[in-house]
Amino acid sequence: MIVAIDGPAGVGKSTVAKRVAKEFNLLYINSGSFYRAVAYKHLSSGKPQENEEAVVSTAESCKFSLDAEDGKLLLDGVPVEHLLRTPEIDMASSAFSSIVAVRKIVNQALRKAAGTLDIIMEGRDITTVVFPDAELKFYFDGSLEERTRRRLRDYQDAQPFEAMKDEIDKRDYNDKNKEFGALKRSPDAIYIDTSYLTIDEVCDKVVQKIFEYTQLKGSGE
Ligand code: C5P
Repeated sequence: MIVAIDGPAGVGKSTVAKRVAKEFNLLYINSGSFYRAVAYKHLSSGKPQENEEAVVSTAESCKFSLDAEDGKLLLDGVPVEHLLRTPEIDMASSAFSSIVAVRKIVNQALRKAAGTLDIIMEGRDITTVVFPDAELKFYFDGSLEERTRRRLRDYQDAQPFEAMKDEIDKRDYNDKNKEFGALKRSPDAIYIDTSYLTIDEVCDKVVQKIFEYTQLKGSGE
Protein backbone atom coordinates (compact mmCIF):
# COMPACT_ATOMS: atom_id res chain seq x y z
CA MET A 1 0.00 0.00 0.00
CA ILE A 2 1.17 3.51 -0.78
CA VAL A 3 -0.07 6.42 1.29
CA ALA A 4 0.94 9.80 -0.15
CA ILE A 5 0.73 13.16 1.60
CA ASP A 6 1.44 16.55 0.04
CA GLY A 7 1.24 20.05 1.42
CA PRO A 8 3.22 23.22 2.07
CA ALA A 9 6.05 23.63 4.60
CA GLY A 10 5.30 23.38 8.31
CA VAL A 11 1.86 21.88 7.90
CA GLY A 12 2.58 18.82 10.06
CA LYS A 13 3.13 16.22 7.34
CA SER A 14 6.26 14.64 8.85
CA THR A 15 4.97 14.37 12.39
CA VAL A 16 1.69 12.84 11.28
CA ALA A 17 3.25 10.52 8.68
CA LYS A 18 5.75 9.18 11.24
CA ARG A 19 3.01 8.35 13.73
CA VAL A 20 0.71 6.82 11.15
CA ALA A 21 3.62 4.74 9.83
CA LYS A 22 4.03 3.17 13.28
CA GLU A 23 0.34 2.47 13.62
CA PHE A 24 0.10 0.60 10.30
CA ASN A 25 3.65 -0.72 10.09
CA LEU A 26 4.46 1.34 6.98
CA LEU A 27 7.89 2.56 5.96
CA TYR A 28 8.00 6.33 6.39
CA ILE A 29 9.80 8.26 3.66
CA ASN A 30 10.29 12.01 3.83
CA SER A 31 10.94 13.13 0.25
CA GLY A 32 12.04 16.60 1.39
CA SER A 33 15.06 14.98 3.07
CA PHE A 34 16.27 13.83 -0.34
CA TYR A 35 16.22 17.41 -1.66
CA ARG A 36 17.81 18.60 1.56
CA ALA A 37 20.56 15.99 1.21
CA VAL A 38 21.38 17.28 -2.29
CA ALA A 39 21.53 20.82 -0.87
CA TYR A 40 23.67 19.71 2.05
CA LYS A 41 26.17 17.96 -0.21
CA HIS A 42 26.31 20.87 -2.64
CA LEU A 43 26.72 23.53 0.05
CA SER A 44 29.41 21.42 1.76
CA SER A 45 31.31 21.10 -1.53
CA GLY A 46 31.75 24.86 -1.74
CA LYS A 47 30.67 24.84 -5.40
CA PRO A 48 28.62 27.83 -6.58
CA GLN A 49 24.93 27.64 -5.68
CA GLU A 50 23.83 29.52 -8.79
CA ASN A 51 25.44 27.08 -11.20
CA GLU A 52 22.63 24.69 -12.21
CA GLU A 53 24.96 22.26 -13.95
CA ALA A 54 27.07 21.95 -10.82
CA VAL A 55 23.95 21.32 -8.72
CA VAL A 56 22.74 18.63 -11.14
CA SER A 57 26.15 17.00 -11.03
CA THR A 58 26.01 16.99 -7.21
CA ALA A 59 22.56 15.39 -7.38
CA GLU A 60 23.84 12.76 -9.81
CA SER A 61 26.65 11.91 -7.42
CA CYS A 62 24.31 11.35 -4.43
CA LYS A 63 23.80 7.75 -3.36
CA PHE A 64 20.57 7.58 -1.42
CA SER A 65 19.56 4.68 0.80
CA LEU A 66 17.52 4.10 3.92
CA ASP A 67 18.95 2.77 7.15
CA ALA A 68 17.69 -0.78 7.60
CA GLU A 69 17.21 -0.19 11.35
CA ASP A 70 15.38 3.11 11.60
CA GLY A 71 14.51 3.95 7.96
CA LYS A 72 16.42 7.23 8.16
CA LEU A 73 18.06 8.63 5.05
CA LEU A 74 21.69 7.75 4.36
CA LEU A 75 23.62 9.92 1.92
CA ASP A 76 26.56 8.07 0.39
CA GLY A 77 26.09 5.49 3.13
CA VAL A 78 26.27 8.02 5.99
CA PRO A 79 23.39 9.17 8.25
CA VAL A 80 22.67 12.83 7.48
CA GLU A 81 19.16 13.58 8.67
CA HIS A 82 20.34 15.40 11.80
CA LEU A 83 22.28 17.85 9.56
CA LEU A 84 19.50 18.79 7.17
CA ARG A 85 17.27 21.17 9.08
CA THR A 86 18.85 24.62 8.96
CA PRO A 87 17.57 27.87 7.43
CA GLU A 88 20.36 27.69 4.77
CA ILE A 89 19.35 24.21 3.70
CA ASP A 90 15.65 25.25 3.75
CA MET A 91 16.38 27.89 1.12
CA ALA A 92 18.90 25.92 -0.95
CA SER A 93 16.72 22.79 -1.13
CA SER A 94 13.78 24.93 -2.19
CA ALA A 95 15.85 26.54 -4.97
CA PHE A 96 17.57 23.35 -6.16
CA SER A 97 14.29 21.43 -6.25
CA SER A 98 13.10 23.80 -9.00
CA ILE A 99 15.68 22.29 -11.35
CA VAL A 100 13.85 19.69 -13.43
CA ALA A 101 16.90 17.40 -13.77
CA VAL A 102 17.32 17.38 -9.98
CA ARG A 103 13.65 16.45 -9.55
CA LYS A 104 14.00 13.56 -11.97
CA ILE A 105 17.01 12.20 -10.08
CA VAL A 106 15.22 12.50 -6.74
CA ASN A 107 11.99 10.97 -8.08
CA GLN A 108 13.88 7.96 -9.29
CA ALA A 109 15.63 7.61 -5.93
CA LEU A 110 12.29 7.91 -4.09
CA ARG A 111 10.67 5.16 -6.16
CA LYS A 112 13.71 2.97 -5.67
CA ALA A 113 13.68 3.53 -1.90
CA ALA A 114 10.00 2.59 -1.77
CA GLY A 115 10.52 -0.54 -3.87
CA THR A 116 7.56 -2.80 -3.37
CA LEU A 117 7.16 -2.02 0.33
CA ASP A 118 4.13 -0.61 2.10
CA ILE A 119 5.01 3.01 2.56
CA ILE A 120 3.83 6.42 3.61
CA MET A 121 5.64 9.21 1.76
CA GLU A 122 5.23 12.93 2.15
CA GLY A 123 6.33 15.94 0.14
CA ARG A 124 5.03 18.31 -2.51
CA ASP A 125 4.40 16.18 -5.60
CA ILE A 126 3.98 12.68 -4.20
CA THR A 127 0.25 12.49 -4.93
CA THR A 128 0.66 14.02 -8.40
CA VAL A 129 4.01 12.95 -9.88
CA VAL A 130 5.94 10.44 -7.78
CA PHE A 131 3.03 8.11 -6.95
CA PRO A 132 -0.03 9.32 -8.86
CA ASP A 133 -1.57 5.85 -8.37
CA ALA A 134 -1.13 5.81 -4.59
CA GLU A 135 -4.01 4.00 -2.88
CA LEU A 136 -4.56 6.86 -0.46
CA LYS A 137 -3.79 10.51 -1.01
CA PHE A 138 -3.94 13.44 1.38
CA TYR A 139 -3.41 17.16 0.96
CA PHE A 140 -2.60 19.00 4.18
CA ASP A 141 -3.05 22.75 4.31
CA GLY A 142 -2.67 25.38 7.00
CA SER A 143 -2.47 29.13 7.57
CA LEU A 144 0.91 30.77 7.02
CA GLU A 145 0.94 32.12 10.60
CA GLU A 146 0.34 28.74 12.21
CA ARG A 147 2.90 27.04 9.99
CA THR A 148 5.46 29.72 10.88
CA ARG A 149 4.83 29.16 14.60
CA ARG A 150 5.33 25.40 14.17
CA ARG A 151 8.56 25.82 12.19
CA LEU A 152 9.94 28.20 14.83
CA ARG A 153 9.18 25.62 17.50
CA ASP A 154 11.03 22.97 15.44
CA TYR A 155 14.03 25.27 14.99
CA GLN A 156 13.98 26.49 18.58
CA ASP A 157 13.23 30.07 17.58
CA ALA A 158 16.33 30.34 15.36
CA GLN A 159 14.86 33.38 13.57
CA PRO A 160 12.46 36.25 14.25
CA PHE A 161 8.81 35.44 13.43
CA GLU A 162 8.51 37.80 10.45
CA ALA A 163 11.74 36.54 8.86
CA MET A 164 10.64 32.92 9.15
CA LYS A 165 7.18 33.80 7.85
CA ASP A 166 8.69 35.51 4.78
CA GLU A 167 10.92 32.51 4.12
CA ILE A 168 8.04 30.05 4.29
CA ASP A 169 5.96 32.32 2.07
CA LYS A 170 8.80 32.43 -0.48
CA ARG A 171 9.20 28.65 -0.37
CA ASP A 172 5.43 28.18 -0.83
CA TYR A 173 5.48 30.49 -3.83
CA ASN A 174 8.47 28.66 -5.28
CA ASP A 175 6.90 25.25 -4.64
CA LYS A 176 3.57 26.22 -6.22
CA ASN A 177 5.17 27.74 -9.32
CA LYS A 178 7.59 25.02 -10.33
CA GLU A 179 7.78 24.10 -13.98
CA PHE A 180 7.64 20.40 -13.06
CA GLY A 181 6.40 18.85 -9.82
CA ALA A 182 4.69 21.99 -8.54
CA LEU A 183 2.81 21.74 -5.26
CA LYS A 184 -0.86 21.37 -6.06
CA ARG A 185 -3.89 19.69 -4.65
CA SER A 186 -4.64 16.48 -6.48
CA PRO A 187 -8.41 16.30 -7.09
CA ASP A 188 -8.55 12.82 -5.54
CA ALA A 189 -6.60 13.77 -2.39
CA ILE A 190 -8.39 14.03 0.96
CA TYR A 191 -8.07 17.66 2.07
CA ILE A 192 -7.23 18.41 5.70
CA ASP A 193 -6.74 21.94 7.03
CA THR A 194 -4.45 21.41 10.01
CA SER A 195 -4.43 25.05 11.25
CA TYR A 196 -6.85 24.51 14.11
CA LEU A 197 -6.30 20.81 14.70
CA THR A 198 -3.91 19.15 17.12
CA ILE A 199 -1.46 16.57 15.81
CA ASP A 200 -3.58 13.88 17.49
CA GLU A 201 -6.68 15.08 15.67
CA VAL A 202 -4.93 15.07 12.27
CA CYS A 203 -3.51 11.59 12.97
CA ASP A 204 -6.97 10.33 13.91
CA LYS A 205 -8.40 11.54 10.59
CA VAL A 206 -5.64 9.89 8.56
CA VAL A 207 -5.77 6.67 10.58
CA GLN A 208 -9.54 6.52 10.13
CA LYS A 209 -9.25 6.89 6.34
CA ILE A 210 -6.56 4.21 6.08
CA PHE A 211 -8.59 1.93 8.32
CA GLU A 212 -11.66 2.42 6.13
CA TYR A 213 -9.59 1.71 3.04
CA THR A 214 -8.09 -1.49 4.44
CA GLN A 215 -11.56 -2.67 5.59
CA LEU A 216 -12.99 -2.05 2.13
CA LYS A 217 -10.09 -3.83 0.48
CA GLY A 218 -10.41 -6.74 2.91
CA SER A 219 -14.09 -7.08 2.06
CA GLY A 220 -13.17 -7.28 -1.63
CA GLU A 221 -15.11 -4.17 -2.72
O1 C5P B 1 9.53 19.04 3.10
P1 C5P B 1 10.76 19.85 3.30
O2 C5P B 1 10.48 21.26 3.73
O3 C5P B 1 11.77 19.19 4.17
O4 C5P B 1 11.43 19.93 1.83
C1 C5P B 1 12.55 20.74 1.55
C2 C5P B 1 12.34 21.42 0.20
O5 C5P B 1 12.36 20.43 -0.83
C3 C5P B 1 10.99 22.13 0.07
O6 C5P B 1 11.09 23.52 0.34
C4 C5P B 1 10.56 21.90 -1.35
O7 C5P B 1 10.89 23.00 -2.14
C5 C5P B 1 11.39 20.71 -1.80
N1 C5P B 1 10.55 19.53 -2.02
C6 C5P B 1 10.02 19.34 -3.29
N2 C5P B 1 9.30 18.21 -3.55
C7 C5P B 1 9.08 17.29 -2.61
C8 C5P B 1 9.59 17.49 -1.31
C9 C5P B 1 10.30 18.63 -1.04
O8 C5P B 1 10.20 20.18 -4.16
N3 C5P B 1 8.39 16.19 -2.92
